[in-house]
Amino acid sequence: MNKYDVIVVGAGPAGSASAKLLAASGVSVLMLDAEAFPRRKPCGESLNPGAVAAIGRITGHLQAEEAFDFPHSLVQGWRVISGRTSLEAAYPGGQYGAGCSREQLDQWLAGQACRAGAVFEQRTRVERLIWEGERVAGVIARSPEGRPMSLRASMVAGSDGLRSVVARNAKVNRYGPLRKAAFTTRLNGVRGLNGRVELFTAGDGKVIGLAPIGGGLANMTVALGSTEAAALAGKDRSGYVLKEARAVPELLERLRDAEVEGDVLACGPFDRPVVPHDIPGMVLLGDAAGYYDPLTGQGIYRALRSAELAAPAIVEALQRRSTEPISRYNRTRHEEFAPGTRIQHVIERISRQPLLWRAALRFIGTSSLLTNKLAEVVGDCPKEANTCIPVMKSP
Ligand SMILES: Cc1cc2nc3c(=O)[nH]c(=O)nc-3n(C[C@H](O)[C@H](O)[C@H](O)COP(=O)(O)OP(=O)(O)OC[C@H]3O[C@@H](n4cnc5c(N)ncnc54)[C@H](O)[C@@H]3O)c2cc1C
Repeated sequence: MNKYDVIVVGAGPAGSASAKLLAASGVSVLMLDAEAFPRRKPCGESLNPGAVAAIGRITGHLQAEEAFDFPHSLVQGWRVISGRTSLEAAYPGGQYGAGCSREQLDQWLAGQACRAGAVFEQRTRVERLIWEGERVAGVIARSPEGRPMSLRASMVAGSDGLRSVVARNAKVNRYGPLRKAAFTTRLNGVRGLNGRVELFTAGDGKVIGLAPIGGGLANMTVALGSTEAAALAGKDRSGYVLKEARAVPELLERLRDAEVEGDVLACGPFDRPVVPHDIPGMVLLGDAAGYYDPLTGQGIYRALRSAELAAPAIVEALQRRSTEPISRYNRTRHEEFAPGTRIQHVIERISRQPLLWRAALRFIGTSSLLTNKLAEVVGDCPKEANTCIPVMKSP
C-alpha cells in the first residue's frame, strides 16, 4: 500500500495551496521541493486582487489576524507608462492586491499546508515519474543527501513550475519561441511608490516593472528580448538593471538614491504551452499546466485558482478510483483561463509595437468603462467584491 495518496511536486503557490486543500480534506499528502525554504523565485512579487481573494478562500483566513503577518504593501491598481503616454487604473469596488517577497509568501503558504497535515520535504528534487504502463505511479526523487528514492502514490500533482519535470516526463509540454527573458531584483530607496504596480514600457518589448513589496522595498523586474539578455551573461546585472531603469526619464529622479538589495535573478524564456492530455495518476497545476508571459501579473492567481479547481477533483478521483474528475478539471481550468490567455497574447503582441501600443493606451484611457473593465480582467477581480478578501495586518 502507498504511504501517501498524493505526491505534490513543487511547493510554490500551486503546490502549497493544493497540498493545504487536500490535507484539509483528509487526503494524505507528501509535498516535495528541490529548494530549501525560504527560497527566492524570479517574480514581480505582486498579487492581483484575484490572488489575494483566493488566498483568503484557500487558507480560510477571511478574518484571521495571522493572515499576511509578514511585510507587504497593499496595491490598489496599476499604471502603464510609455513615453509621454500613460494609463492608470484602480481595481474596481475598492478591491486590492498586494506586493510581498515571494520567499515569505511561499514559506507562509507551505506552512499552511503543513498545519493542515501535509508532510513537506525540502531539498528533494524529483527527477522523473514512475510509470506502470500508461499510468503514473509515483516519482523518483533525490534526497538532500543525494540518495535516489522511489516514492509511490495514487496521484502525482505536478506543480513544479515553468520547467516542470513532471510535464516534461509525461511529454505534454513544449518550448514556445524564445521571446523574452527577465532580470528581477529588489531596490531600497525608491521614491514615489504609492500603492500601485507601475509598468514602464518602451514599446519594443522592453518592460520595467516596479512594485512596492513592503518593508521599504520595491521589486524591479526588467524584461527584454532573449538575445539582448543572453549578451549580458557574466556581466554586472545590478549595474545593468539600474542603468536601464534610470534611462527612463521619470525613473531617473525616483531612483537617484536607489540601491539593489540582494541578487539579481535571471529567468526566461516564458512561453511553455501544454498540450491537452489525460494521463491516469497525474495532474498538472500552476505554471506546470502551461504558461505564456508575466506581463499582466496573473501567474500567482492562476496557480492558486488551479489548486482550488484541482483539489476537489483529486479527492473525487481517489474516492471513485476514476480518471474522469481529473479530465473534468483539465477542461474546466482550460475554459476558465483561455479567454484571459487570449487577452494576454493580444496585450503582449501590441506592447511590442510602440505606435500601436501608445494609441491603444490613449484609446482605453478615453473611457472609464474600458479602463475599469481592463483593471477587472487583468486583476482577476472576484465577482463578489470584497467578500473573500483576507484581513491584512499592517506589518
Ligand atoms: C519575471 C517574472 C515575473 C512575474 N511576476 C509576477 C507577478 O508580479 N505576479 C504574478 O501573479 N505572477 C508573476 N509571475 C508568474 C508567477 O511567478 C508564477 O506564475 C507562479 O510562481 C506560479 O506558481 P507555481 O506554484 O505554479 O510555480 P512556482 O512558483 O514556480 O513553484 C514551483 C516550485 O517547484 C519547485 N521545483 C521545480 N522543479 C522541481 C523538481 N524537479 N523537484 C521538486 N521541486 C521542484 C521549485 O523549487 C518551486 O518551489 C512572474 C513570472 C516571472 C517569470
